[in-house]
Amino acid sequence: MGQVLTLELESKAAAIRELLTEAVRRFGRVVYANSLGAEAMVLTDLISTDVPQIDIVSIDTGRLHEETYELLEKLQRRYGNRIRVVYPDAEELSGLVARQGINGFFHSPEARVACCNARKVVPFKRFVAGYSAWVTGVRREQSPARSLGSPVEWDDQHGLYKVSPLLDWTEEQVWSYIRTRKIPYNVLHDRQYPSIGCAPCTRAVQPGEDSRAGRWWWENPEARECGLHPRVRTAAVQS
Ligand code: SF4
Repeated sequence: MGQVLTLELESKAAAIRELLTEAVRRFGRVVYANSLGAEAMVLTDLISTDVPQIDIVSIDTGRLHEETYELLEKLQRRYGNRIRVVYPDAEELSGLVARQGINGFFHSPEARVACCNARKVVPFKRFVAGYSAWVTGVRREQSPARSLGSPVEWDDQHGLYKVSPLLDWTEEQVWSYIRTRKIPYNVLHDRQYPSIGCAPCTRAVQPGEDSRAGRWWWENPEARECGLHPRVRTAAVQS
């Protein structure tokens, strides 16, 4: 499917295959937490095609854009239902909404974190229990916090290794890979949404704004993480 990658991209893709294959050899059970963003299209393609030992999971928070669900369906068709979808605990979510309201996340940083915790972090932790490492699509360019990452590091927050194969990819390289391989992507990217999360907490960015400026835009930029990515780098692991 798609055309041949440039030599530069093929070399970068080969480095990812090598890193992920080594992660499977070293850590055993590895899971990719698929955010369904542009970076996720690259990793979904590489993992599904070349490192099928890695499981792929996406979290349906219940507040995603319709365009995101449409993308998920296209990916399920293209990659043969490789993506396992997990959900928040219904009781926990019901309690959260009873306490802070259906859109309570707008009212305070604590309420927002509580919502991300119930809808993303808890389902994620529940799913990754039993895995030794997880793969993320974070890139250094995306935020000051993410610029501190290492390709393989111990994730103290979740108690497993974290593998980030795309850290040094540029946005242009991500899109070049997607277009060359003709991979489906979220059509919201064509409407100035470089980073896409839940519908109420994501908006389009203005020209020149940081790529994550549309996520939780009402908060301090340093605090804009969903809880899956610790902001303080822990022990880096030699690969
Ligand atoms: S991004 Fe918004 S709606 Fe989604 S889990 Fe976090 S606070 Fe809740």
